[in-house]
Amino acid sequence: MRKIFSLTLALLMTTCFFAQEDKKDGDKGDNKRGNSIVRNIKIKDNMYMITGRGGNIGVNTGENGVLVIDSQFAELSPDIIASIKRVSNDKPIQFLVNTHHHGDHVGGNENFSKEGAIIYAHDNVRYRILKKEQEKAEKEIDKAYDESVKKGVGESMSQEEAEMNAKRGVERMQESLDIDYISPMITYSENSTMYYNGQKIMLLHLHKAHTDGDTMIFFTDSNVIHTGDAYIKGKYPFVDVKNGGSVEGYINGLQKIMALSDEDTQIIPGHGTLATRADVEETLKMMKYLKDRVAYYYLTGKTLEEILPLEDVGKIYDDKGFGGGFISTESFITVLYNAAAKKYKNKRAKPQK
Ligand SMILES: [Zn+2]
Repeated sequence: MRKIFSLTLALLMTTCFFAQEDKKDGDKGDNKRGNSIVRNIKIKDNMYMITGRGGNIGVNTGENGVLVIDSQFAELSPDIIASIKRVSNDKPIQFLVNTHHHGDHVGGNENFSKEGAIIYAHDNVRYRILKKEQEKAEKEIDKAYDESVKKGVGESMSQEEAEMNAKRGVERMQESLDIDYISPMITYSENSTMYYNGQKIMLLHLHKAHTDGDTMIFFTDSNVIHTGDAYIKGKYPFVDVKNGGSVEGYINGLQKIMALSDEDTQIIPGHGTLATRADVEETLKMMKYLKDRVAYYYLTGKTLEEILPLEDVGKIYDDKGFGGGFISTESFITVLYNAAAKKYKNKRAKPQK
């Protein structure tokens, strides 16, 4: 069995940009625990959206059991699970789908796993969760080893004794910790379909969008879509280039959401309140427009510093509130600029001095 160090702690440390998002919601949760920030919003029969801190959770209940999408943070799990049990009349939570690997969407995985849920996601989600955990575990173990040696020498052990002692301690740490509960147990590489609770549920991989492991989930009978962070409502999105995301892929993902939805579709965004197809369309228009403007200015030889203050780049969507999220106008334009630079490297005019 594969065992490594301090997974829960490590996951808590992986909070992505959106970690604090819903904190301001305060205590208006429906949960009976006094200080809960967890809210469970009924979308329609057997479909719910849970907010708290981190990415929005989707819930589908029915005869078979419960399917949950994303798990927010570990410390919220008791409230989230209690809330799910209330709306599902205590049906078992059988599946947890992870829309991608970021800590604010998978931080509660271990707790859902211990409830009996099978975690299901794209191949790259498993790969990235394991990679991140292993890197963190190695760092933690190195640190614990160094501290133990120092302490041993301070307590008048010889250097050799202290090292032996530290080694034994680290081995015990490795044995007592377990990674099997937090990463997806079943993965897929392209698309996948579930037939659950009387409806067809399509899981569609969006290539290189927010990350390289994004899944959107379409409940075909309920006409509800959970987009993960491949769409967030009314704010500039985070294109996680380091983890395989791309501007083109993000736009393609939004187009896929548009193609599958109609005006009655209820859309659970990765972050923000429940959305409609028109909301997704606005973000799609914003991205296409800004991508083209930035590429145009890049090709005419402007530097990033010259582009940022331009009215028809930064201001136009800032006025609609897009810059008020976790991704500032400046960082979003920088991502677009870098994408243009990669695409048009040899085609631009010389920068004007
Ligand atoms: Zn994310």
